[in-house]
Amino acid sequence: MSVVQCDLLVIGSGAGGLSAAVTAAHLGLKVIVAEKDAQFGGTTAWSGGWMWLPRNPLAVEAGIVEPIDEPLSYLRHELGDRFDEARARAFLEAAPRMVEFFRSNTALRFIDGNAIPDFHGRTPHASLGGRSLCAAPFDGRRLGARIADLKPPLPETTLWGMGIASGAELRHFFNALRKPASLWYVTQRVLAHAKDLLLHRRGMRLLNGNALIASLAASALEAGVDIRTRCPARRLLRDGERVSGAVLATPEGAVEVQASCGVVLACGGFPHDDLRKRTLLPHAPTGKEHWSAASRGNTGDGLRLGETAGGQVATDALQAAALAPVSLVPRADGSFAHFPHLIERGKPGLIAVTRRGQRFTNEADSYHDFMQGLLAALPAGEPVQAWLVCDHAFMRHYGLGAAKPAPMPLSPMIANGYLKRGRTLADLAKVCGIDGDALQKTVQRYNAQALSGKDEDFSKGETPYNRMQGDAPFASERGWPNPCMGPLQRGPFYAVKVVAGSLGTFAGLKTNAHAQVLDAQDQPIAGLYAGGNDMNSMMAGHYPSGGITLGPAMVFGWLAAHHMAEQMPTPAAADAVSPD
Ligand SMILES: Cc1cc2nc3c(=O)[nH]c(=O)nc-3n(C[C@H](O)[C@H](O)[C@H](O)COP(=O)(O)OP(=O)(O)OC[C@H]3O[C@@H](n4cnc5c(N)ncnc54)[C@H](O)[C@@H]3O)c2cc1C
Repeated sequence: MSVVQCDLLVIGSGAGGLSAAVTAAHLGLKVIVAEKDAQFGGTTAWSGGWMWLPRNPLAVEAGIVEPIDEPLSYLRHELGDRFDEARARAFLEAAPRMVEFFRSNTALRFIDGNAIPDFHGRTPHASLGGRSLCAAPFDGRRLGARIADLKPPLPETTLWGMGIASGAELRHFFNALRKPASLWYVTQRVLAHAKDLLLHRRGMRLLNGNALIASLAASALEAGVDIRTRCPARRLLRDGERVSGAVLATPEGAVEVQASCGVVLACGGFPHDDLRKRTLLPHAPTGKEHWSAASRGNTGDGLRLGETAGGQVATDALQAAALAPVSLVPRADGSFAHFPHLIERGKPGLIAVTRRGQRFTNEADSYHDFMQGLLAALPAGEPVQAWLVCDHAFMRHYGLGAAKPAPMPLSPMIANGYLKRGRTLADLAKVCGIDGDALQKTVQRYNAQALSGKDEDFSKGETPYNRMQGDAPFASERGWPNPCMGPLQRGPFYAVKVVAGSLGTFAGLKTNAHAQVLDAQDQPIAGLYAGGNDMNSMMAGHYPSGGITLGPAMVFGWLAAHHMAEQMPTPAAADAVSPD
């Protein structure tokens, strides 16, 4: 077996791994990143790229200044008994410094989330904006030939492979057939993308999570990090009690990587590990009843590797996964894409019903809350599924899941069975197996409430987060008082079935505030760190705001690298910038 030496071995190339890798390289460490997949980026490359980072410099520069006690108190209220003050404080103290480090020293730039509210506006100390950031668009050409190793966005969330940014850009796409300025914008974007496809066989204006990974990878490569794809880690190496590296299965055979400072496990949790899902997700009794939208290579390797070294996987989260409604989109090769419904649920003119034809929750709440509502509404043992229902006008304006709005044709999605259509609500109910009488009554009641603007059943549209997810200009043009509510009026009507899924998992290896993996006695295991979703989420199964996986992934990666650099018995350690 060949042997390679480095200071830090990072296993997994999502945000959790690359944050640690880039930081460590800047602190003088020799870093190898081992990625199992043929391309780097993991779920992060498919994500929205939003990071919950309270007190970040972009907010401060815009005049949004809050003491640490504000977000800390929000978390305390949200997490209740599961609030871990040590890790929450470490995160909140480091978040602004992490952002400052990346924007000053690396290729990563941020755009602000100063108008993006926390999910739960009724919880004390919730914010109306300024606690999140997104990766700024990135020019893929900076990656040079390594662009071929960047995982592209999930095809079903793109238009011909072109990512679309949330906010203003997405609004232009929705309004392309109604507003000349939007049509102009969209035409320019599509033409530029077509040119990229001709010249580079892929889009080069990278957005969202794809931009986050591309800018982290470019920064890593420019700082000398060795990123190796097709190199799954198979087992950890030990030097006495200390974790000292790992064995990788590479295309050229097994390679032993010896890492003098340690190993960061960042394999993206267990979204595709049926055994662990069976144990930790009550709605998935065989493990298969959970269709995560996360990257398929995330099969729980990091958690298992950590356990071989004495690490402990937490089992006390409120929910072990970041739940989301997911629809199964047939692909030409017979497989199914797992499409997470993150955008259209809050728009005016959509309801979600169970097969009983009844609404069960506020459709404009977060994906996690939507799923908690569904789980609570269904009798034990019933398959976890619901239907998103809309009328023709909604369908052509916003689309429904992977079925795109006009002018994209609906017929392929109807022909492959993804999108259900009925001339009347009764027809639609029959096609879907929904109680037809109940559905008609539900829609009648909902339509009356939409016209009055008050959701008497689930308070839709009453929080700042709901309203952001809605469409106030569109609703008010039609005289609908609530930005999240519009009547379902004229057929044909459409539905897409959603099942239980997630954006990733929360339960992971227990760590301390330096991201060191803890043993059964809560003592750090020397040389072993966990990042991203391999680290037990500091949110403990709660979901207080968007970006609560990528924000901590970036911050704890940065903290882990600093902790390692401080342990290094070389001049690099003495020069390292302390995070304290
Ligand atoms: C559509 C979508 C949108 C989302 N939007 C957001 C958002 O805006 N904000 C947010 O906070 N979260 C978002 N999420 C969730 C977020 O993307 C994930 O929680 C996050 O990317 C996890 O990061 P990670 O570094 O832990 O794992 P990943 O990014 O998944 O990276 C893990 C990597 O480890 C590799 N790996 C696995 N096993 C091994 C092994 N044995 N050896 C080597 N490599 C291995 C995997 O192949 C993978 O590349 C979204 C998710 C989806 C699906």
